Amino acid sequence: MRPLTGSRRRERIAVVGSGISGMAAGWYLSGQHEVTLFEADTRLGGHTATMDVELEGRHYAIDTGFIVFNDWTYPHFRRLLETLGVASQPTEMSFSVHETARDFEYNGHSLPRLFAQWTNLLRPSFHGLLRDILRFNREASQAMVDGRLPADLTLGDYLDAGGYGDAFQRRYLLPMGAAIWSASIGELRDFPARFFVSFFHHHGLLAVNERPQWYTLVGGSRAYIPALTAPYAARIRLATPVHGIRREADGVRLRNAAGEEHFDQVVLACHADQALALLDDADDAECQILGALPYQDNTVVLHTDTRLLPRRRRAWASWNYRLDGRDDDARASVTYDMNLLQRLDAPHTFCVTLNDEASIDPARVLGRYTYAHPRFSLAGLDAQARHAEISGPHRRTHFCGAYWRNGFHEDGVWSALRVARGLGYDTEAEPRDPQVPA
Ligand SMILES: Cc1cc2nc3c(=O)[nH]c(=O)nc-3n(C[C@H](O)[C@H](O)[C@H](O)COP(=O)(O)OP(=O)(O)OC[C@H]3O[C@@H](n4cnc5c(N)ncnc54)[C@H](O)[C@@H]3O)c2cc1C
Repeated sequence: MRPLTGSRRRERIAVVGSGISGMAAGWYLSGQHEVTLFEADTRLGGHTATMDVELEGRHYAIDTGFIVFNDWTYPHFRRLLETLGVASQPTEMSFSVHETARDFEYNGHSLPRLFAQWTNLLRPSFHGLLRDILRFNREASQAMVDGRLPADLTLGDYLDAGGYGDAFQRRYLLPMGAAIWSASIGELRDFPARFFVSFFHHHGLLAVNERPQWYTLVGGSRAYIPALTAPYAARIRLATPVHGIRREADGVRLRNAAGEEHFDQVVLACHADQALALLDDADDAECQILGALPYQDNTVVLHTDTRLLPRRRRAWASWNYRLDGRDDDARASVTYDMNLLQRLDAPHTFCVTLNDEASIDPARVLGRYTYAHPRFSLAGLDAQARHAEISGPHRRTHFCGAYWRNGFHEDGVWSALRVARGLGYDTEAEPRDPQVPA
C-alpha cells in the first residue's frame, strides 16, 4: 500500500515523460492528486526498454536500456520494487577489456579470469596495471574520506598528478568509467574527480572483496511498469508528445497536437535539454541550469554477433569494453552479455552493444535504438545544486530525472521523490536519505 500523503489540496498534475522518473513521480503523487502522464513514444518506460525477440521459434524479453541495480546504492528503487511485489534475481557484474589491434584481454571478475589470457602473467605492464588498481583503490578512497579532492579537480588531472600508468588509465579505469556512463575517454578525463571517486567508492568499485550484490528483474526490466502505473493507468497518454508549456498565474498550459490543456502543476520528467526546449517562457535561471546539463545520443544495437566479445570465452564478462584505437573523443564501445546478466537459457548469446554498429554483422542484428545519456561536468554539478531555484510550486513546474544526480535508476526514483515531497507526499515510509529534503 502507498504511504499516506500530506495536507495539500487535490490538484491536476501533468507528468511529461514515462521513464522511471516520470512513472515513479506519478505513483507517489497519484495517492493525493489527479495525475495525467504524457509520453511521446508509443510505449511506456523510456530507458526501461525491454524488447521482445522471436528467434528460431522461441521468445525472449531482452533489456536494451536499464538492466541492473544493487543492494547498496538503490534504496528507493528497491523499496518501490518491494512494495509493488516485483521479483528480481541475483546477477553477475563483471567487466572485461579486449583490444582489437593486439591479442590483449582480461576479465576483472576474479583472479583466474584476470589471467584468462595466461600470457598476461608475463607482461610487466599488466603487473603495473594491477599495482595501480590497488594503489588507486586505497589512495582515492582515502583522499575522498579526508576531503582532499577539490571541487574543481578533474579525474584526468588527479590521475596524472598521482603518476598512474597508461595501462591503468587506458586499459582499466577510464574504460570502466566510460562503460558505466556511456561516455568517451576524453569526457571521463574531464569528469569531476570527487564525483567519480565518490560514485566508485559507494558502488564498491574501489574494493576488491566487499562489493554489492547486483540484480536484474525477472522477465526483463519492464516487469515493474504495470504495477507502478496502475493507480493512474486511465490517464496515460501514449504517443502524445508535449510541444510547449506556458506558466500562468493560476496554472500551467500544455500544448500538444490535439490542442491546449490546463493543469495546476507540471512535472517535467524528460531530459534537461528536452525540458528546456518545451518551456515557451523559460527564464534566465532555467536556461542556465538546464543548459548546463546536456545529453548525448548513444546508438544501441541488440544482436547475436559474439565477435564483439573477447576472443577467449573465459574472458567474457557482463560488460565488455572494446579498445579499437578510436580517438579519445569517440564514445566507448561496450557490449553487454545479456545471457549472463539476465540469466537467459538460450542457444544464442544475446548482446547489446553501445556505439559500435559498424563492427556488427548486419545479419545478426535484432534491433537498433538510440538512447541519450547525461554528460557530467563541473558546471553540471553546480547546476544540479541549484535545483530548488527553478523547481517547485512557485513556478508550478517540477523537474525530475536521473540527470539530477548520477544518471541511474535510483537517481530517477530519488529525484521523483524529491518532487513528490514538494507537492505534499508524506515520506514517513521511505528510507532515510540525507540528500532528500524532508
Ligand atoms: C543503454 C543504457 C543502459 C543503462 N543501464 C542502466 C542500468 O543497468 N542501471 C541503471 O541504474 N541505469 C542504467 N541506465 C541509466 C538510465 O538512463 C536511468 O537508469 C533511467 O532509466 C533514466 O530514467 P529517466 O526517467 O531519467 O529518463 P528516460 O527513461 O529517458 O525517460 C524520459 C522520457 O521522456 C519522454 N519524453 C521526452 N520528451 C517528451 C515530450 N516532449 N513529451 C512527452 N514525453 C517526452 C521520452 O520519450 C522518455 O520516455 C542505462 C541507460 C542506458 C542508455
